[in-house]
Order: sequence, then structure tokens, then C-alpha cells
Amino acid sequence: MTLSLPPVIVWFRQDLRLADNPAILAAAATGKPILALYCLDDEAAGDWAMGRASRWWLYHSLSRLEDALIGKGGQLVFKRGAAQTVLTDLISETGADAVYWNRCYEPWARQRDEQIKIMVKNRDLQARSFNGSLIVEPWDIVTATGAPYRVFTPFWRRLHAQYAPQPPLPAPDTLSFASRVSSDTLKDWALTPVQPDWSGGLQQMWSPGESGAMKRLEKFLARTVTLYKDRRHLPGETGTSHLSPHLHFGEISPRQVWHAVEQAGQTHTAGGHTFLSEIAWREFSYNLLYHYPDLPTTNFQPRFDHFKWDNDDDLFTAWRHGRTGYPIVDAGMRELWATGWMHNRVRMIVASFLTKDMMIDWRKGQAWFWDTLVDADLANNAASWQWVAGSGADAAPYFRVFNPVLQGKKFDPDGAYVRAWLPELAGLPTKVIHAPWLANHKTLFDANIVPGETYPDPIVDHSFARKRALAAFESIKGGS
Ligand code: FAD
Repeated sequence: MTLSLPPVIVWFRQDLRLADNPAILAAAATGKPILALYCLDDEAAGDWAMGRASRWWLYHSLSRLEDALIGKGGQLVFKRGAAQTVLTDLISETGADAVYWNRCYEPWARQRDEQIKIMVKNRDLQARSFNGSLIVEPWDIVTATGAPYRVFTPFWRRLHAQYAPQPPLPAPDTLSFASRVSSDTLKDWALTPVQPDWSGGLQQMWSPGESGAMKRLEKFLARTVTLYKDRRHLPGETGTSHLSPHLHFGEISPRQVWHAVEQAGQTHTAGGHTFLSEIAWREFSYNLLYHYPDLPTTNFQPRFDHFKWDNDDDLFTAWRHGRTGYPIVDAGMRELWATGWMHNRVRMIVASFLTKDMMIDWRKGQAWFWDTLVDADLANNAASWQWVAGSGADAAPYFRVFNPVLQGKKFDPDGAYVRAWLPELAGLPTKVIHAPWLANHKTLFDANIVPGETYPDPIVDHSFARKRALAAFESIKGGS
């Protein structure tokens, strides 16, 4: 009886989970059979097609979701190509009379989804979209004058006071599925690296998928959250949740995270409150991207359009390879390459170094992060790069140029982080670990270091570079 009903297509995107998934729950509530689809749409994404680290994650996350759906007696259909064409064909093939999805906020995805909604409705079929990724929709939280928020603190106060989320939705108990349709296999998509296979470090560190996300959250709430306020600044310790790729791919929702913090009695503790404010930074970034869709390509503050970036290729290569001669910068870039992730404090340091010490355009750094981060996220990446560069909304003032040596000493006081990622410096005593060029001959000899050979000399002189960056900034200061 049920099988004769037309199916509902549930189109998975950045919501690779079954719990707290409004689209699948609403589809299940129709009583119609479900056709679960994932479409790899590099065409619509264009310049923002997923980078290599994200593709590694996607492969594993989709495998877990496929297992979960097979476990419920169903199928996850894999299709590659323009989503509009894929959906049109699938509707014709299966006689589906509805398409449900959870919303995405990337400008290219919004434009595409709008067209798909029109296509579906023009056929007298149902298209429904839901909020599965944010605590509050960007159009629902605006200032008293109706303008988008451009400053974080009032945004966070408002979110906290008025938009504390409802408890998350359960996973559907049972699902009935449409008859099987032809599908690619995940392996056809070659999402994971083969030669060379650089993914060993990622495999060691991460468990993509819904249950991996929940375990990360539970571990964080059991062990880390109480000390989060202070320890989150220390890259040498496990002081943060590591939830970013899980949140990006929607293996867990911010509502689930918020609710779990509440359940753990941590909402008003220093650690829990600070952690929720970081979840709010994610919301703020999405809000900015929604209201200012050029955020990933255009300076939020137009006066930066006149800034003369140097864009030296050799410096950019040294930065990417973690060979700048500044240990905290190099450790961060090597952590990124090995694990697809970098500690937030170090992201700020390497981004400041690139844009200010090297005077390289933030968009180049953003692009490298896009390719190498497992949590590469258009909203968070663009908002954060512009924040550090000084060109963004509520940005760090341009004249705040991080000193990589002082940052290293303050946030990696025993050098544990640098030693972990730069084994060639491991033998240095702590007092010079963040500035090896200050070590005397004997110390270098004892630590097996040949300056310029086993570890590079500093590629720029920080105090000179700082003055140069500030002078360049002065020249655009008067602009709007
Ligand atoms: P936690 O400290 O445990 O925070 C919990 C969650 O809050 C994170 O998972 C993330 O979703 C959110 N969050 C935390 N800090 C921020 C922030 N500053 N802005 C927005 N959301 C935040 N984050 C990404 O998710 N994707 C990116 O592509 C990205 N690019 C960045 C680029 C630069 C230059 C900088 C300085 C930061 C970037 N961030 C990005 C923000 C931040 O560094 C990461 O979200 C964080 O390090 C992830 O680790 P975590 O999950 O352990 O964070």
C-alpha cells in the first residue's frame, strides 16, 4: 500500500545526519516512501567546489550515512552533476511528488536552490526547505532598525537572550523507502587521495559521521568544557571541542550542541558560556555571509580595495610549506597539512603573519585553507580571514600585528606545540624554542640544528615587516 505512494526526495547536503534533521523527519511524517539523495554538485559550486581535505571528509561521512540508511532498510542514492538536472531526472524516473531539504547559505547554493524550488513548483510538486544548520535564520535576527548585525557582541547578547534553541528533534524511528534506483558508488567519485595518499594523519585524528560527532561532543563535555575559557587558547593542549568539521558537514547541529551543553549543566559556567559564544561566532559568520554574499571575495571595508598587497610567490610558498623560520607559524602550517585542522589561536597567528608580515592578500590564504582544512566553511573562513586582515566586520584593528615570538611564548609557553610539529627543533631549550636564531652555537650544536639548513632562518624580519605593514595601512586609513 505505502509503496504505491509517490516518493518524497530527501536531498542531503550539509546535514549528513539522521537526528535533529527537520527535512527527513518531515518527509517521514508524510507517510510516503523516502528517496534519500546526495548530489555532488561541483558545477553550481564553481570556485567554491570542495577542497581536497573536505572531499576526504565527505567520502567518510557519506559512507557512514549510507551505512545508517542501509541499516534502516534503505538506500542513499549518489549522483554527480548539476543538482537541477539530477533532480529533474530523478523526479521523472521515480514519479516523486516532493523534494525536501535543509537550507544552505552559500551564495551559490542559495541561487541554485531558488531555481530548483521554482522548477519543482512549476511542475505542481512540493518543494520544502528547513532550518537544519543554524540556531536562528539570518533574516530573523536583525538590529532594532532592521539592519543586519555588523558587530558581534550585540548579536551574541540578542541570540543568547532571545533565541536559545528548542530541544533537538529525534531521529525518525522507522522510515519507509522508495524502490531502489540506479546510483553511482562513492568510490566512483575518487574523493580520497591515492598517489600520494597524504590522508594518514587525518585518518588518525578524525572519525567523520554522526556517531563520531556525538562522541566528540560527549568527550568535550565530560573532560574539556570546564577549563575551556582558558585552555582554548593553548594549542599544545586539547582545550577545544574539535567539532568544526562535524558542524560544517552537519553531522551534528548547533541545536544539539547547545542542548547538550544545557543538559550537562554548563550553560552558565565560564567554560560552557564561552563555548556557546563560539557557536554564536559561527552564527554571526553565517549571518554576515547571508547579508553580504560577496564576503569571500570582496573587502568588507572598501578602503582595503586600495591596499597594495605584495603577493610575493616565494613568501607564499614558504608559508604554505611551514618554512618561514618562525616556529609557531611553521608548526601551525604543518599541523594543517598533516591533520586538516589547525588550532584557532594559531590560525590567527598564521593569518596575521601572511597578511601583515608578508603583505599577501587574505584571499590567497583563504584559498589555501579552503583546500587543506577538513572544516573549510565559506562563512567561517571568509569572516575569519577578513577579521584577521582587518578588512572585515567587527575586525581586529589593522595595527594589531601579532608578534609570532611573543604569541608563541604566551600561548605555547613550554614549546610543546612547536616540538610536536617541528621535530627538527625538538632538542632546543624552551627559552629559545620560539626564536631559534637567538640560540648560541653550542645550543644549536647540541640540538642538531644547522641554521638555514635543518631549519630556515626567519624569512622576513618581524619588526621591519610590522613597520612596513603599518605604513601601508596608514595610506588607506582615511578611506571609508
Ligand atoms: P571550538 O573552540 O571548540 O568551538 C566550537 C565551534 O564554534 C567550532 O567548531 C566552530 O564551529 C565555532 N567557532 C569557533 N571559533 C569560531 C570563529 N572564530 N568563527 C566562527 N566559528 C567559530 N572555522 C571553521 O569552521 N571553518 C573554517 O574554514 C575556518 N577558517 C578560519 C580561518 C581563520 C583565518 C581563522 C582565524 C579561523 C577560522 N575558523 C574556521 C574558526 C575557528 O578557528 C575554528 O572554528 C575552530 O578552530 C575549530 O576548532 P574547534 O571545533 O575545536 O573549536
